[in-house]
Amino acid sequence: MADKRDYYEVLGVERSASDDAIKKAYRGLAKKYHPDLHPGDQEAEAKFKEINEAYEVLSDSDKRSKYDRFGFAGVDPSYAANEGGFGGGFNGGGFGGGFQDFDLGSIFDSFFGGGASGQSARRNAPQKGDNLRANIVLTFEEAAFGCKKTIEINRVEACEECGGSGAAKGTTAETCGVCHGSGQVRTTQRTPLGAFSSTSPCNACHGTGKIIKTPCNTCHGAGTVRRRRKIEVNFPAGIDDGQTISLRGQGNAGYNGGPAGDLYATVSIRQHPIFTRNGPDVLCEIPISFTEAALGAELEVATIDGKVKYTIPEGTQTGTTFRLRGKGIPILNGKGRGDHYVTVNVEVPRNLSKRQKELLREFAGELKPENHTPENRSFFSKLKEFFEG
Ligand SMILES: [Zn+2]
Ligand SMILES: [Zn+2]
Repeated sequence: MADKRDYYEVLGVERSASDDAIKKAYRGLAKKYHPDLHPGDQEAEAKFKEINEAYEVLSDSDKRSKYDRFGFAGVDPSYAANEGGFGGGFNGGGFGGGFQDFDLGSIFDSFFGGGASGQSARRNAPQKGDNLRANIVLTFEEAAFGCKKTIEINRVEACEECGGSGAAKGTTAETCGVCHGSGQVRTTQRTPLGAFSSTSPCNACHGTGKIIKTPCNTCHGAGTVRRRRKIEVNFPAGIDDGQTISLRGQGNAGYNGGPAGDLYATVSIRQHPIFTRNGPDVLCEIPISFTEAALGAELEVATIDGKVKYTIPEGTQTGTTFRLRGKGIPILNGKGRGDHYVTVNVEVPRNLSKRQKELLREFAGELKPENHTPENRSFFSKLKEFFEG
């Protein structure tokens, strides 16, 4: 008793704190130290008790004013007796032993609507069904232009036979007599720290609030059945690797009349033999001959629309990339299309005939510095500077 902490200190508020500030401080602390969150932790339990005791007094204007004037003696008769002080005056005040037995659960519930302890206990509340996930592999073209795919999933559905009630045709589920349909029971535990009240799922009905006397033949009372379903999914043009289509209400059936969950279909795009993708743009490489590069040529470039003619200028260097505007992938949920980028790789001829070699040597002899590209010219001049400078 002697090392009892000041109530304002316990809640971490000023002595002049408003009712709202006290309530707010209590809420935060009670949430932090609630025994449900720290099972078996004596320290947290003691702290929770201390917080509740402080709040019990400071939230009551009468008790608070007595506490302000007389300290613990003003609100706790046993303390007053120990001090030999105000005992007589306050014993009859109607709060004798008050917070030894108060119902922590009810205070807590009134704040959080059964929050921390209620989540698992309230099994008969309507809840959204579980979401399902599926991975779909699309070809490069299917993703580019969009497609319709039928996917097969296993999901939980409401039983058609009993309409989800779990009771055989012609019968109905009865309200549980133990919990009166709430699905939960409250138990009060007396501990040296006082009475702790907690709610737990009703054992008689397993938290459903209903008793099924004659279970449905199809679902055996569960109200739900597993079904394999084919679902048609529309993948829009331009969808990319890793993107997900969500289908509302195509997941598992909800609980206790709640809505069904969703189905998420995530796309993987299969590698294409010649195209790669960068968002809405398509990239590809194309080999060209040494003479095509030197003299220029009309190339046939493969795009997702088919072959397209493209003229490269004479003197094209290896590694040069050309852009074919608007020949890429449609922009997802938007207007227009990406571009098609083609990178040319000059192939040096192999296995030349004697005659071809002669021609090339003749060609090499004719080659003048100005036949080199600007980059190479600067390379040669740098080389010259390096040796001469
Ligand atoms: Zn059924
Ligand atoms: Zn019950």
